[in-house]
Amino acid sequence: MALLEIRDLHAKIGEREILKGVNLTINSGEVHAIMGPNGNGKSTLASVIAGKDTFTVTKGEVLFKGKDLLSLPVEARAAEGIFLGFQYPVEIPGVSITNFMRTAINEQYRGLDPMGAKEFLQLMEEKKKVVQLTSNLANRSVNEGFSGGEKKKNEIFQMAMLNPTLSILDETDSGLDIDALRIVAGGVNALKSKDNATVVITHYQRLLDYIVPDFVHVLYEGRIVKSGDKSLALDLEEKGYEWIRQELEKADK
Ligand code: ADP
Ligand code: MG
Repeated sequence: MALLEIRDLHAKIGEREILKGVNLTINSGEVHAIMGPNGNGKSTLASVIAGKDTFTVTKGEVLFKGKDLLSLPVEARAAEGIFLGFQYPVEIPGVSITNFMRTAINEQYRGLDPMGAKEFLQLMEEKKKVVQLTSNLANRSVNEGFSGGEKKKNEIFQMAMLNPTLSILDETDSGLDIDALRIVAGGVNALKSKDNATVVITHYQRLLDYIVPDFVHVLYEGRIVKSGDKSLALDLEEKGYEWIRQELEKADK
């Protein structure tokens, strides 16, 4: 069974239809990249999967491990193992990363015994290494005064701690210098396993030099219009989205 199965997904905001029939299948163990021009629905797709209620789904279905995802509230989707990077982009003064993660982890254990303090600290130490997060940063207030790179490190650190089944990273590369990009990509690669899957949304091919996707999809005007392997990202970089527009025009004739 596919981990995530999206069929003919349509979604609108106000009266405007943004997603116009998205089809996508993701299996465990796979890394998918979604590319596409600005404003064509990439972040909308991520939001609809994660369950943000700014968008109204008008048609189609999303199955996660065979379950109807669209009927679940946002917290339930997180508890099912879906992680959206930038889910917590806010600055939280007075709450350290350590305390924030403590709460987030215990949320996952709702109804079960919460994780013990010792076990939690061990997990923190182990996962801090994945993104080379310093103790100094872990003890600072969440995202307050963080540089772009520090925010992204924190995001991947959250992902490492929560150990999601499906991670969606929306523009995780924007604002990163080359060292931070390597650390973030290294973290994503280190967390990859046969039991989870990652969706990387990016404008640029650059990130995909470090996170090698199994599949690349082009989301154009609310639909996935082209899919391929990693060479598609290189073709796009070379030919631009004008190439996609021309291909669609040809297909229309
Ligand atoms: P992408 O991530 O591909 O750049 P988005 O999914 O963010 O594109 O946006 C798709 C379209 O939806 C854009 O035209 C954008 O202006 C519109 N949109 C997104 N969020 C909102 C919102 N909260 N209110 C109104 N329009 C929105
Ligand atoms: Mg976007």
